[in-house]
Amino acid sequence: MTPTKQYNLTMRPRRLRQTPQLRAMVRETSLDAADFIYPLFITHGENVRQPIASMPGIAQLSVDEAVVEVKEAAALGIPAVILFGIPAHKDPIGLENFAPDGIIQQAIRAIKTAVPHLLVITDVCLCEYTDHGHCGLLDEAGNVLNDETLAVLADIAISHAAAGANIVAPSGMMDGMVGAIRAGLDDAGYTQLPIMSYAVKYASAFYGPFRDAADGAPKFGDRKTHQMDPANVREALREAQLDVAEGADFLMVKPGLPYLDVVRTLRDAFPERPLAVYNVSGEYAMIKAAAANGWLDEKRVVLESLLGFKRAGADLIITYHALDAAQWLGNNEQ
Ligand SMILES: [Zn+2]
Repeated sequence: MTPTKQYNLTMRPRRLRQTPQLRAMVRETSLDAADFIYPLFITHGENVRQPIASMPGIAQLSVDEAVVEVKEAAALGIPAVILFGIPAHKDPIGLENFAPDGIIQQAIRAIKTAVPHLLVITDVCLCEYTDHGHCGLLDEAGNVLNDETLAVLADIAISHAAAGANIVAPSGMMDGMVGAIRAGLDDAGYTQLPIMSYAVKYASAFYGPFRDAADGAPKFGDRKTHQMDPANVREALREAQLDVAEGADFLMVKPGLPYLDVVRTLRDAFPERPLAVYNVSGEYAMIKAAAANGWLDEKRVVLESLLGFKRAGADLIITYHALDAAQWLGNNEQ
């Protein structure tokens, strides 16, 4: 064996990686259950827990089962849930979306009664409630109408506010949606209700499992006339600037893992705005499928992915992994 050459290095980054304690001391980013928002799919009925095949561990829940689920989330330190509704009937407008006894309105009341301190965020869009599955009203040719849709979005948000929602989250990528909802809420007396805008939502193939879960796939066409082109990031700044100008209290990027550069871009451009990222159904399904095959260590991959969102600049992570991740973090098993 040849004698080791002496390099006389003064800089040795490995010095700070020698022990778990040193590594913890210099860790730049932390992950906590308080960062998570847990999505729930609410359906009519009682004692319903309808598993979603492409999202193992996630189910459509009736209101009573959703209450059980949110109690668990709250006990794990998760501060918020976001609700998606599956209506009893669909029609061209999506009337149940703003009905006082609609499925989401029932769920908000039940959750706020059971766990008053848990923040309830509601998705505000038309696609799960319309028979055509599009995010807005349609003209006779099947085009999504923008301005005609805005009044409906405001009605939905007001209805959620009246039921007790803490934050409304418009997701339809209609131009002017945040301004219309803000004006509607203010006129109705809900000046203190924050808006979390899906400011930058891409036309992504990663939403596939969600559309099974929420039964919200468009019956024809696609969403490329309102959701963003995955190739664009300068346009993301434009979308976010408009939403900020219209009164968005939070910004969001969706999907998450393929768009970490967009998260970073928004973080840097809007340092004063809380930023959420949506770790979408397809991202969840990929990890669950690989883990089920024994190809990945689920716990480590999930925690590393969630940490990546924080490192990229997200404050909040909407994730189907929330319960598992909160449990793992609570057990200090990082
Ligand atoms: Zn939609």
